[in-house]
Amino acid sequence: MVIKVMPVYGTRPEGIKMAPIVKALQASPNFDVHLVVTGQHREMLAQVNETFGIRPHDDLDIFAHGQGIEAVTTRTLERLTPLLKTEKPDIVIAQGDTTSAFAAGLAAFYQQIPVVHVEAGLRTPSIWSPFPEEGNRRLLTRISSLHLAPTSGSRDNLIAEGVDPDTIAVTGNTVIDAFLEVAQSQQSFESAELQGVGEDGRRIVLVTSHRRESWGDPMRRTASALRRLAQQEPDVQFVLPLHANPLVRDIFRPALEDLENVLLTEPLGYTDFSRLTAMSTLVVTDSGGVQEEAPSLGKPVLVLREDTERPEAVTAGTALLIGTDEELIVSKVTELLHNPENYSTMANAVNPYGDGKAAARTVAALEQFFDIGQRLPDFQA
Ligand code: UDP
Repeated sequence: MVIKVMPVYGTRPEGIKMAPIVKALQASPNFDVHLVVTGQHREMLAQVNETFGIRPHDDLDIFAHGQGIEAVTTRTLERLTPLLKTEKPDIVIAQGDTTSAFAAGLAAFYQQIPVVHVEAGLRTPSIWSPFPEEGNRRLLTRISSLHLAPTSGSRDNLIAEGVDPDTIAVTGNTVIDAFLEVAQSQQSFESAELQGVGEDGRRIVLVTSHRRESWGDPMRRTASALRRLAQQEPDVQFVLPLHANPLVRDIFRPALEDLENVLLTEPLGYTDFSRLTAMSTLVVTDSGGVQEEAPSLGKPVLVLREDTERPEAVTAGTALLIGTDEELIVSKVTELLHNPENYSTMANAVNPYGDGKAAARTVAALEQFFDIGQRLPDFQA
């Protein structure tokens, strides 16, 4: 019996987190993979698929400039449903918490096709934060038949909501599989923009900010804080790979582009970004994936958010939630750059999010779901 699986995704982080699973399923004789992309982050996702040698079968082409999340939902439903009817997958894979992931799950549910939710069980206390991701992931939980929780904490969140424990496997986060695969694979940067970075001996502070809840004033405060920091710390190189979204670029470019020690780049290939993380002294970010990757290399992470659905690195002491208060960003970065004791307290390599075997556990959980194999032991941090 060959199981037909249909992963559906469209953003860069989904592409990174699904790549190890797609490759593991393609390598197994038990599965036939029909990969559908939504066309949301077309260029950034193509970059990722190229890195991992992955080719989608279909593109839903849902992207339209300025469209709201309601349009993402309806377009995904309208365009995925005919494919579900013709391809008739045995299961659909949705990853994480994007609106398209939820809509893909809903389309499958309407066709009575089971859904497996990868990276299930992340939670904040409020359905409004982060918006709309927290709502999307809670809704996906309700319509999924198999829940792949990255950590035991996320499994506990699901059980607290009444999800049957037999339908949950703790796999670790596949981002760690992806990160470990590329982190040591390259000796130099591919991007021309990064040539010379790190060669002058200056310490590197890596910054990313792109999330919806950071748009507008929070992002402006971050940009002002970075401007002050860059002027105050001429011996530090600040690197900001800018998200493709114009709402992000239009804030950071004018605020920082004239500063000699701030490098604003295009979105980086995953291998370059991983290498840059490895070379950095510390990471300042609102990204989910970056919060998971940097601790595995022992890089302190200052999180530009008020709350996080990823508390594990905060508990382990390598990540600190600082929000987007300008003074706090300036003082925390300054402290980590100049106080070696505080720095070393945070700079411990921990892997609360995974051990690089999440894809293997995912394949095994799918085999068990279809009664053709056994699950692997759960991931334990
Ligand atoms: N990333 C990348 N290039 C960049 C910035 C980030 O490949 O220029 C990777 C990063 O390593 C992580 C993922 O993109 O795996 C995070 O994506 P993003 O921050 O866009 O989304 P989030 O994780 O917050 O959903």
